Amino acid sequence: MKAMILNRPGEAFTLGDRPDPHPRPGEAVMRVRAAGVGLTLINMRSERFGGITPRVMGHELGGDIVAVGDGVTGISVGDRCAVYFYLTCGRCRWCRGGRETLCENFGGYVGVHRDGGFAEYVCLPAENFLPIPDGLSYEVAAVAADAVNTNWHCMRERARLNPHDTVLLIGAGGGVGIHGVQVAKLFGARVIAADVSDEKLALARQWGADETINVRSVANVAQEAKRLTGGKGVDAAVDYVGHGETFKTAIESLTTSGRAVIVGVGRGEVTFNPFGLVLTEQIITGSRHSTRTELIETMEVMARGLVKPVVGMRVPFTEVETIFEALLNETLLGRGALTYPAT
Ligand SMILES: [Zn+2]
Repeated sequence: MKAMILNRPGEAFTLGDRPDPHPRPGEAVMRVRAAGVGLTLINMRSERFGGITPRVMGHELGGDIVAVGDGVTGISVGDRCAVYFYLTCGRCRWCRGGRETLCENFGGYVGVHRDGGFAEYVCLPAENFLPIPDGLSYEVAAVAADAVNTNWHCMRERARLNPHDTVLLIGAGGGVGIHGVQVAKLFGARVIAADVSDEKLALARQWGADETINVRSVANVAQEAKRLTGGKGVDAAVDYVGHGETFKTAIESLTTSGRAVIVGVGRGEVTFNPFGLVLTEQIITGSRHSTRTELIETMEVMARGLVKPVVGMRVPFTEVETIFEALLNETLLGRGALTYPAT
């Protein structure tokens, strides 16, 4: 099969040939029909998530099951499926409790610790394939499987949004953030979108943001968020960027009992006043991807048209490098998507 191969960390992909995969017991093979591309892959390509090269990356995937190994139940040849990103054990207390992103026997990530879907076929544990509901395209299912389900988990379980809340989204114009705007609106919150360019903020407004902050044109983002909330601060702040400075802004923007949630995987450190947490019962926390259940729910919600995919660029999978360039140049609006040969 054709595959885009990462030969060394940080390098560009090269088009190469790999043997067609055959499923071992408990595994299945999917013919890839669509893939999503976002900023997480930049971090993965530089090996920040571990893994070894040569590697076929790509974890936001939709396609058709073409082979199943011995002992596989629940999915069959011909099923349309999306891919779940995490390789988890299914047996530990976190997996059994429905919080498998915290798996004690974590096996790593699809596209990092085993080959992903920037190739014609992908072979994974059968549990990593989830059926795509009727009416949902392969591409939308692919985008659901990271750019949207991450927000589904974040807004409901970590930011705990209610219709009376105001939420600040830092990096709202990015590939995950722009879907966060939609999910936050779906939970009824008033959304303040913050990002680095008017173009990204216009996109955020187009998808439902009530207020916007251009972080390059205000002196202090937290103060601006307070001004937009009558001096009180926001009930929740989600940081998609994940630098020390941006998360500090998230914390400083909060009102009493507010929740600061980090999603992005940037770098840096942040300091805060612990006594302030005693007085306010504010919560500082992280949000880690999504469970399988949440991916199923996300696809159902998207099949109903309640959250729409925002795809800013679409190229054949053999040209994935052009999307990586757009990500690095910060010119990609929304998610990138890859197309695959029809036969
Ligand atoms: Zn586990």
